[in-house]
Amino acid sequence: MAKMYYEKDCNLDLLKGKKIAIIGYGSQGHAHALNLKDSGFDVIIGLRENSKRIKEANDAGFKTMSVSEAVKNGDIVMVLINDEVQADVYNKDILPNLKKGAALAFAHGFNIRYKQIIPPEGVDVFMAAPKGPGHTVRSNFVAGKGVPCLVAVEQDATGNALKIALAYIAGIGGSKAGIMETTFHDETETDLFGEQCVLCGGVVDLMQCGFEVLVEAGYEPENAYFECIHEMKLIIDLINKGGIEAMNYSISDTAEYGEYVSGERILPHEEVKNRMRKVLKDIQDGSFAGKWIAENKSNGRAFFNSRREMLKKHQMEIVGKNLRENMIWGKDTNLDNASN
Ligand code: NAD
Ligand code: MG
Repeated sequence: MAKMYYEKDCNLDLLKGKKIAIIGYGSQGHAHALNLKDSGFDVIIGLRENSKRIKEANDAGFKTMSVSEAVKNGDIVMVLINDEVQADVYNKDILPNLKKGAALAFAHGFNIRYKQIIPPEGVDVFMAAPKGPGHTVRSNFVAGKGVPCLVAVEQDATGNALKIALAYIAGIGGSKAGIMETTFHDETETDLFGEQCVLCGGVVDLMQCGFEVLVEAGYEPENAYFECIHEMKLIIDLINKGGIEAMNYSISDTAEYGEYVSGERILPHEEVKNRMRKVLKDIQDGSFAGKWIAENKSNGRAFFNSRREMLKKHQMEIVGKNLRENMIWGKDTNLDNASN
């Protein structure tokens, strides 16, 4: 069983008097920064010159500066820029300015696990990884709740790295939901596996297939969207609340019977699991990471950008956009609005 930590295990006083430099003000960055500030801590933001986030962070009451300046001042340096640019920014602006005895922190282990970043001796290296999108990290905190987090220590120079990490996670609200101890190795591999096989790759392709089958059979695309895409959240909310049992309690017995007779026809377990094992192997042996690093370095993201464009033009996205715009709560489509 994994070691779990909650509110009682976290001592927020350990962050008193420390400057927390948040590098990047995107999905995770704005959420960590705002939650830590609301928890009473001293937060500064490091951004690129000309970053469009500077105004946003200033408007939220933060002092912003260059990445190098923020790192020079930071006792804790939390790296919340895109994984694929972290190594360059680290070499140029972070490593040369990191204070001895400071803590270098991440929300995902990719660059440490695949050795794109090799931290120097004499600093703590920890992970505070929310198991949820940044905007939920913020909205749950505002609602007095938290998002479950993973904690890991890669390097413990001060002897206090775990305690500092737990205090940091409590500051962003994670201790209200639960903190699981892991390693950079396991967090990275399970995170990549989850998003590829189940959460993003798996779910999106499943919804797309369902939508296409119904539309190709002559049913209205709006109907296909409601059925195969919109309802996904309603079903997941039930599972999130009370497990699959709660979903089965809420759906009709007809739906539950259909689940038992057709689930495995769609996803033959042994075949699907063998495919998942192949994806897992590519993650474990570094070949997925190598491809993603190469995609960013050499092809100007040709594959990534073309897939993103293709998806934008897919009928399910166009139909969905139109339907959501007409839902009375669907007007606010700005995902960067922290109150979403
Ligand atoms: P994001 O794309 O939302 O934001 C990245 C931020 O970095 C932006 O403010 C951008 O302007 C800034 N940035 C980009 N390049 C920069 C550069 N060269 N110099 C300085 N700033 C730069 O990223 P995110 O999704 O918040 O991800 C940040 C980290 O959090 C990643 O390690 C990611 O794996 C991890 N994470 C993300 C989520 C999530 O839900 N998005 C969940 C868990 C962990
Ligand atoms: Mg993830």
